[in-house]
Amino acid sequence: MQDIGFNPRLLLINGQWRPGASAETLPLHNPSDGSLLTEITRGNSADINAAVAAAQAALDGDWGALSAAERGRVLLKMSAITLTRADELAHLEALDVGKPLKQGRADALALARYLEFYGGAADKVHGQTIPFANGYTTLTLREPHGVTGHIVPWNYPMQIIGRSVGAALAMGNACVLKPAEEACLTALVFGQIAQEAGLPAGALNIVPGLGDEAGAALSSHPGVAHLSFTGSVAVGQRIQAAAARNTIPVTLELGGKSPQIVFADADLDAALPFLVNAGIQNAGQTCSAASRILVERAVFDEVRRRMAERYAALRVGPALHDLDVGPLISARQRELVLGYLGLARETGLAVAAQASLPADLPAGGCYVAPTLLAPVAPDHRLAQEEIFGPVQVMIPFDGEAEALQIANGTAYGLVAGVWTRDGSRALRMARKLRCGQVFINNYGAGGGIELPFGGVRHSGHGREKGFEALYGFSALKTVAIKHD
Ligand code: NAP
Ligand code: MG
Repeated sequence: MQDIGFNPRLLLINGQWRPGASAETLPLHNPSDGSLLTEITRGNSADINAAVAAAQAALDGDWGALSAAERGRVLLKMSAITLTRADELAHLEALDVGKPLKQGRADALALARYLEFYGGAADKVHGQTIPFANGYTTLTLREPHGVTGHIVPWNYPMQIIGRSVGAALAMGNACVLKPAEEACLTALVFGQIAQEAGLPAGALNIVPGLGDEAGAALSSHPGVAHLSFTGSVAVGQRIQAAAARNTIPVTLELGGKSPQIVFADADLDAALPFLVNAGIQNAGQTCSAASRILVERAVFDEVRRRMAERYAALRVGPALHDLDVGPLISARQRELVLGYLGLARETGLAVAAQASLPADLPAGGCYVAPTLLAPVAPDHRLAQEEIFGPVQVMIPFDGEAEALQIANGTAYGLVAGVWTRDGSRALRMARKLRCGQVFINNYGAGGGIELPFGGVRHSGHGREKGFEALYGFSALKTVAIKHD
C-alpha cells in the first residue's frame, strides 16, 4: 500500500473524521499498473444514518443560521483552497482513477471554478412578487430542500462534486456525499478543503462505500429531501424508484451516445481536433463523449482518413506519464470495452484506425487501444449503446433529414455537436436535435460550467451546472399576505 498523505479510512460526519460503523475495508487499486493503492472504509447504512442526522442538525444549527452571503463566502474560500491544492488533487486522481495529470488538473480547476461560481451566486437567487389581487401582497421564496444526497460516479469525481454539492450548498442545503468506491480519494480531500474553509460541521458529510450498501441506504433514506445522481441508466432507474417511495425530487445524469454531425460544408480543420478529442478524452469515460461521428457522405472518406491520422499519433500510457490517453478505471471496465471490440470483430466492422499500445505498458494496467470503427450502421449495438471507453463509430449520412434521424435515433439524448458553415441549417438542427445541449462549430464549449447541463430520455432529467442548477437545488414557496 502506498502513503497517500492522509488516512483514507475515515469518514467525514458532523465535522469529524471518524472510523466507519463497521471495520470492513475496500481496496483501491491504481489502474495504471493494477497495484494496491490503499484501502477505504466500507461505509454502510449506520454511517449513512449518522451522516443524514448530522446534516439535519447542521440545517437546524450553525449552517442553517448563515445568510446567503455568508454561505457564499465559505464556498469562495473553498474555491481558493482548491486552487492551492490543484496539483495534489491531480496527482491523487492519477493514482486512483488513472487520469493523465493534465486532465486531473483541469478537473481540479473546474471544481474551484464551480465553487467560485456558486459562491458568487449564493446571494443572487431572487424570488418574485406577483400582482395577484387587491388586498394581497404575494411573493415567492427560494428555500433549501433540506438534506440532499449526492451519488457520484468515478469518471469525473471532482467536477461532479463541484456542480452538485457546490450548487446544493449555495442554496443552503446540507449534503451527504457518497463517492464511487473506485474514486473517492479526491472526494475526501474535498472534505478537508471544506473544513479548512470553515464550512460548519454537518453541512457536508462524506461516506465512501459500495453502491448497493451506502448508496442504496442514502437513496432510500426518509430524511433525505433531494437526490442527485450521475452514473448508469440501470442504477439511475433504481435511484428514481427509491426517490418515488419517499416522494422526493431527483436529478439524474445518465450518460449518452452523443453525436458530432459533420456536414460537407464544415470547416474540417476546425472540427478535426474536436472529433477525436471528445471521443478519447478521459479514455472515453465521459458521459458527454462524442461516441458517434456522423459525416455527410461527400466528405466521409476524408474525415475518416484525417481522424485515422490523429488516432495513429495518440500516446497511451500510465497516468503519471501524462500522455493523451491513460488506462480505464478498472479491469472490469476494460473487460466491458473489450467485449464491445470483440462484438465489432464478430460482426465484421471495419477498423479505420487503432492507436498502438506501447510494449512496455505495466502488465496489470487497464489499457485499451483507442479504436475508430467505420463505417458502422446506425442500428448496430456499437452505435446504440454507451461503451464508456476510447471507441468511436463513424456513420455516413445523406442530407439534413437523415442526419437528424440518425442523431435522434438512440435511447439517449445528452449532447450533440453540429459542424456546418450554413447558419440557417445550424439553427434548424439546434431546434430539432433531441438532447440537453447543442454545440455549433465546437463541442463542449471548454466545459462551460456556466452552461446548464443534463439530458432527456435515458440520459436523465433535471439540470446541473450554471445558474439553472440553483433552482433545482431549492424549493419554491409562495407566500400570500392579506392586508387592508
Ligand atoms: P454506476 O453503478 O451507475 O455507479 C454510479 C454511482 O452509483 C457510484 O457511486 C455507485 O457506487 C453508485 N451506485 C451503484 N449502485 C447503486 C445503488 N443500487 N444505489 C445507490 N447507488 C448506487 O456506474 P458504474 O458501475 O460505475 O459504471 C457502469 C456504467 O455506467 C459505465 O460503463 C457507463 O456506461 C455508465 N456510467 C456513466 C456515467 C456518466 O457520467 N453518466 C458515469 C459512470 C458510469 P459504487 O461505484 O461505489 O458501487
Ligand atoms: Mg481506483
